[in-house]
Amino acid sequence: PSPLDKEQRQGLKAIRDFLKVRTSYDVLPLSFRLIVLDTDLLIKKTLNILIQNSIVSAPVWDSQRGRFAGILTATDYINVIQYYCQFPDEISKLDQFRLSSLRDIEKAIGATPIETVSVHPSRPLYEACRRMLKTRARRIPLVDVDDETGRETVISVITQYRILKFIAVNNEHNTVMLKKTVREIGLGTYTNLATMHMDNTVLDAIHMMVDRNISCIPIVDAENRVLNAFEAVDVIPCIRGGAYEELDDSIGEALCRRPDDSPGIYTCGEADRLDSLFDTIRKSRVHRLIVVDDDNKLKGVISLSDILKYVLVHGEEDSP
Ligand code: ADP
Repeated sequence: PSPLDKEQRQGLKAIRDFLKVRTSYDVLPLSFRLIVLDTDLLIKKTLNILIQNSIVSAPVWDSQRGRFAGILTATDYINVIQYYCQFPDEISKLDQFRLSSLRDIEKAIGATPIETVSVHPSRPLYEACRRMLKTRARRIPLVDVDDETGRETVISVITQYRILKFIAVNNEHNTVMLKKTVREIGLGTYTNLATMHMDNTVLDAIHMMVDRNISCIPIVDAENRVLNAFEAVDVIPCIRGGAYEELDDSIGEALCRRPDDSPGIYTCGEADRLDSLFDTIRKSRVHRLIVVDDDNKLKGVISLSDILKYVLVHGEEDSP
């Protein structure tokens, strides 16, 4: 192996060792707020709660049984929209749905429920990461269980971004060893990319995200130049107040509804090195990187799960 390979391997090993001696607790800031939603809330109302608090997901609590009941994300709203598309006559019923109805909605539209996994905050972070990759969950709730009473407490939620940022901030001496380029390590997806144009509708985008099981669609012009990206969370403002008319709007119109401070998209080139991706993660709240060429034409997509997977399991198979 070349010296570059060797250094890369050392860097990855050091990061993995770091994740094995840190816990999910370590990722949490000293003080933070946590918004937990009751299963009895009307789904319609939860949209406003998320928007008003500038969040895109929240843990759900079953207060009747005193138990953690899962995590509400953009996927749940997309399920609601699919329900609306499949059963358009039931719009009045839709208005009355509560969070506790989400499982019934999943069943009605035939969606495979996302496994509700949680981890104990004092387990190794490495374990939480592996769980995330295995279940394809983009966020994982930290649930503490009282030894004596068996009572559950939701402590917080950690996301793929939080973990990667934690690695980036605390491992600069290790991430600098990751000098191989995106192209060399084949990071991300480059074939059969799901894309759309500005004049496609929000519903088109939702159907594509569901079909392809992805949460982001790059928006390109006629020359395949990247203009923006439509994300699953962009759906939330489109249905606020329980109105579904805006789903027929164009993606261009929907993107205008993003909050003024929304950061937009992050791009990189295939010749960028993994350490520079970590620099971006350290500095900005990235959700994914869109890979472009010198003409800003779309080449690929690197999701945070692609990065996490590489950092955690690359080369694992062939080492004893
Ligand atoms: P995201 O949350 O960005 O959708 P996921 O973790 O769901 O990312 O991505 C799953 C896989 O799908 C990843 O390997 C990613 O590279 C790929 N992917 C993401 N977006 C697209 C897209 N628009 N077209 C094709 N593949 C994609």
